[in-house]
Amino acid sequence: MSCVVGDSTRAVHEAEPFDEETGSLVTPIFETATFGFTRADEVPRAVAGERGYVYSRWDNPTVVRLERKLAALELGGDGAAFSSGMAAISTSIFTFLKKGDHVLGIKDLYGGTFSLLTKLLPELGIETSLAETGDPDSLDAGMRDNTVMVYIESPTNPTMKLVDIATAAKTAHHGGAILLVDNTFASPVNQNPLALGADVVLHSATKFLNGHADVIAGAAIANKQRAHRIKMMRRDFGGTLDPLPAFLVLRGIRTMALRVRQQNSNAMAVAEFLEGHRKVARVNYPGLKSHPQHSLAKKQMRGFGGMLSVEVKGTMKDAMKFTESLRVASLAASLGGLQTLVSQPSNMTHTQMTAKERAKTGIPDNLVRVSIGIEDPEDLVADFRQALSAV
Ligand code: PLP
Repeated sequence: MSCVVGDSTRAVHEAEPFDEETGSLVTPIFETATFGFTRADEVPRAVAGERGYVYSRWDNPTVVRLERKLAALELGGDGAAFSSGMAAISTSIFTFLKKGDHVLGIKDLYGGTFSLLTKLLPELGIETSLAETGDPDSLDAGMRDNTVMVYIESPTNPTMKLVDIATAAKTAHHGGAILLVDNTFASPVNQNPLALGADVVLHSATKFLNGHADVIAGAAIANKQRAHRIKMMRRDFGGTLDPLPAFLVLRGIRTMALRVRQQNSNAMAVAEFLEGHRKVARVNYPGLKSHPQHSLAKKQMRGFGGMLSVEVKGTMKDAMKFTESLRVASLAASLGGLQTLVSQPSNMTHTQMTAKERAKTGIPDNLVRVSIGIEDPEDLVADFRQALSAV
């Protein structure tokens, strides 16, 4: 698509030509495991991933269209779609590492990634260490001679801390390493890490990309050469996305800009309401002036996102009472969908960390993570008000 560049236009049109044979406006679901050849000399190019298809664990036309759309949205050369966010993350990490290398992460990481970095990689002879999130000096000091990868998230889950992506990229590149960024929380509507200097962008496509809480999927986007390496590793690890969920993620992406902009403004309304409530100890939302990195948020994000977290005054039990008293919002894991969801990281999403590890990274027992949906903002505010009155 050469004549238009806007987010919504790209999300609707990019990488989805009419189907050549039928003129189908919508990308068809090529639900096939394998592909036939009429000429044997076409096989080598298909095997090399240059032209044509061989086997759907390698590549599939529906999935490839999704990957091209993802690349356009994240301003990369190509994408690789996976059967989950964790498949995208683990396969991408292993693509660029070997025994004896060092990976530098940050202390606030999604639970699955935290466990991969701090438990599995060291068992395989790969050194890992974690810098203070949001502290560029700590990241710089964490670089070693054998650091080949810096891995960050911004905003972080569920603490909503930010990492200066452009500075992290400079630090990584100065030390000869590449920068991987999990952009799940921001979504490509609000932030493009590749444009800020990152080398690989990762997504749980389960979240804002698909946006309807009905698919598990993941994505990695990079320049063509790195994306190709990731896809080659995916052939062996086998976490490729199936065509049917790829179709659903494509469908979800077409409305992503609309959804995310509504989620951005709803989140701001809820964050402002919660911040002024007497039963709330703290609200973590990058769009609030009180957020310690608000100016960085304004610098590297176009919108502040649909995610926030809130410390309800009192104990873990008070926070539990709050979550179960909500009527519009639901108590459920995951995020980025149409419906507002709340969860308590200490008993749901962050159980891979010990209580001590959680406390150190700022995840107290009374912290509630909120994923704001597209409902009417006044209904959400009323719901949070009545739930707080029940505590
Ligand atoms: N990264 C982040 C920031 C997440 O929140 C999640 C899941 O919640 C993942 C990665 C993992 O994605 P998936 O559940 O699709 O494997």
